[in-house]
Amino acid sequence: MSNHALRQATASDGDSSSDDVESPTAVRLESVTHEYGANGGRGRSGDDRTVTALRDVSFDVQAGDIVGLEGPSGSGKSTILHAVSGLLVPSDGAVELLDTDLTTCSNRERTRLRRRHVGIVFQRFHLLPSLSARANVALPLVQAGIPRATRRERAETLLEKVGLGDRIHHLPGELSGGERQRVAIARALVTDPDVIVADEPTGELDTATGEDVLDLLMDIGRDRALLVASHDESTLAVADRVVTLRDGRVVSDGG
Ligand code: ADP
Ligand code: MG
Repeated sequence: MSNHALRQATASDGDSSSDDVESPTAVRLESVTHEYGANGGRGRSGDDRTVTALRDVSFDVQAGDIVGLEGPSGSGKSTILHAVSGLLVPSDGAVELLDTDLTTCSNRERTRLRRRHVGIVFQRFHLLPSLSARANVALPLVQAGIPRATRRERAETLLEKVGLGDRIHHLPGELSGGERQRVAIARALVTDPDVIVADEPTGELDTATGEDVLDLLMDIGRDRALLVASHDESTLAVADRVVTLRDGRVVSDGG
């Protein structure tokens, strides 16, 4: 699993030749527009009206950046994170992940790129209830064809890293909310992705637990690229940059 070419390219200690090279772009959205229910599909309400979720959205995330995505409910944050993860192909525009446009590549290639380069952390953890913490963390490695002993070893190392070394055999239902989110973070890291997307990762947690989870995310996001959607001031305060959305449009990108 040596798919962190990006990080190696940016971690330039001892390599003076790359000192003045700009960080590579991890994610780039270029004039992205998305309508749910277009293309003959049906919208959430079951009728055939379309909902314009994103309008001409452009911004980018460099390797090493922690970028906050802020905006009221319904402003398009999750839609952006789905597009960046290759879980959704927007109606128009380009979404580049490590210089490959996810909107023009095949479904198979898009899935491959997601599994290899993106770690996803959801608000509601999305753990499989019947699997132990270790098995949940190891799951992405099954898809990657990694042998069982290596999967277990890697999952245990990550669970230790997130402070759950003594919970590896617990089921999600036997863990607190903060612990479940730590398991989800370990799972997002297990394939050693270049990009982490987190969708309101502290939204279900109390303030203190949320802050611990946030510290952990910042710690792991620092040498990757982290795009985190949040309403939460403390999350946005630690971002290097905040992109603000209103009604599917970027209304500010900075600070
Ligand atoms: P946020 O994450 O900021 O709350 P979303 O990206 O989830 O925003 O939603 C943006 C807009 O798209 C909202 O108007 C929402 O109702 C709509 N939307 C989201 N998902 C779907 C869907 N699967 N089908 C139809 N409309 C959707
Ligand atoms: Mg959302």
